[in-house]
Amino acid sequence: MLELSGLRKSFGGFGAVNGVSLSVERGRIAAVIGPNGAGKSTLFNLITGHLKPTEGRVVLRGEDITGAPPHRICRMGMGRSFQRTNIFPLLTVFENVQAALIAHRGHGRNFWARSARLYREETEELLASLGLLDKADVKAGELSHGNQKQVELGIALAGDPDILLLDEPTAGMSATETRETIALLKRIAEMRGLTLLFTEHDMEVVFSIAERIAVLHQGRIIAEGTPEAVQRDPEVRRVYLGERH
Ligand code: ADP
Ligand code: MG
Repeated sequence: MLELSGLRKSFGGFGAVNGVSLSVERGRIAAVIGPNGAGKSTLFNLITGHLKPTEGRVVLRGEDITGAPPHRICRMGMGRSFQRTNIFPLLTVFENVQAALIAHRGHGRNFWARSARLYREETEELLASLGLLDKADVKAGELSHGNQKQVELGIALAGDPDILLLDEPTAGMSATETRETIALLKRIAEMRGLTLLFTEHDMEVVFSIAERIAVLHQGRIIAEGTPEAVQRDPEVRRVYLGERH
């Protein structure tokens, strides 16, 4: 589904991503983990076109998308969410997801006459799958942080992606919200046959959902494999796990 080769990004003289090669198979749930400043968000921005790599290639379903603009990459079936929540706080939950559906599918010729009802069923269906239907009429900005991240997920899913990149999907969530969000992600990925690539700094979250894990340290992948293999890796234990104990 996704193939990265020799990806580099430097800011001035500083290498934030230093030659990352990684492939993600279709239908997999894969995680990129690493401490703060490891280069996770930068790597994701290189993949989704929000940053142009200094070197290297990004290939999506066999097609080279290196340096393509974000909207084009999005249209090719790559959805994403950001580390900082990105929603319209003054619109309702319904309107946020509906707007995303309209943006992706178009509004036909009759936009102004019917806008309030446009994609109503699809919007409600999507909200139901996220457990947000009872909050449809609430202003998104008034929701809990966890619910706001779920709305953002709804916005990403409105584009009907094949692969979804989530940058710290549980950042700032309570333990309960985190558990719920992980269960939700798992369910949605299975239901839609999605490929999921997410970053995370919380190891528990990662090991409860990821099938493959890549460990990023100072912009380099120091280990890649199953959760069990990564957990046993001495280099990983030294530079990453070691920092927390
Ligand atoms: P992570 O998401 O793993 O916490 P980031 O990708 O956000 O890491 O950052 C990796 C490194 O690159 C950090 O040292 C950060 O300060 C630096 N960095 C990120 N974006 C920029 C930028 N636009 N300009 C300069 N340095 C940056
Ligand atoms: Mg980050």
